[in-house]
Amino acid sequence: MYGTPWCPDCRRAKQFFGDQRVLYDWINADDNPDSMEYVEQVNGGKRIIPTIVFEDGSVLVDPTTADLAEKLGIRPKATCQYFEVIIIGFGPAGLTATIYAVREGFDTLFIERSRASGQTGVTERLYNYSGFPDGVGGIHFCSTCDDPLDKDSEVVVKGGNSGIEDSLS
Ligand SMILES: Cc1cc2nc3c(=O)[nH]c(=O)nc-3n(C[C@H](O)[C@H](O)[C@H](O)COP(=O)(O)OP(=O)(O)OC[C@H]3O[C@@H](n4cnc5c(N)ncnc54)[C@H](O)[C@@H]3O)c2cc1C
Repeated sequence: MYGTPWCPDCRRAKQFFGDQRVLYDWINADDNPDSMEYVEQVNGGKRIIPTIVFEDGSVLVDPTTADLAEKLGIRPKATCQYFEVIIIGFGPAGLTATIYAVREGFDTLFIERSRASGQTGVTERLYNYSGFPDGVGGIHFCSTCDDPLDKDSEVVVKGGNSGIEDSLS
């Protein structure tokens, strides 16, 4: 990712990649004049950041969050227009609500703006969680978060775990 620390769109893209646990190289164009030349070359002489080059050789220039989500294979929009239950936020509370809504057979949309797990995803070790008397690593807990949905869902959870703001548009 070519960008600068003062660019809000670069910060947004970095935040999104961080939330999605996507590894990337950050090239600060302020410190590296050669990189700005590359940016100009890619963008027909214009200095547009962030300019993001992916492993497959494709380039996104100042992408929206939805563009980034699509590139990562995350569904940024709901596929249906009607839902019986909409749950916003996919931390432990949203996960629990979603599991029970799905079990009750409701057409359920859940929307998460970053990544399923909520605060547990940034916690080294969780204590006091039922079923884990010795505590559990936050990352391990997160990796099991949507397992119950896979078993029960029968594509009942519509919209995916994208959490992009325009999911409902
Ligand atoms: C460092 C740390 C250590 C902790 N240790 C423990 C512990 O040992 N034991 C314990 O029981 N608890 C612990 N906690 C607390 C525990 O993680 C929280 O109580 C729990 O995660 C709360 O769950 P939640 O689903 O209510 O909210 P959150 O986990 O905060 O999840 C909310 C989700 O909603 C999403 N969201 C918010 N707004 C929007 C929006 N507008 N659109 C889309 N999505 C949105 C967020 O991205 C987030 O994923 C710890 C927390 C931290 C930070």
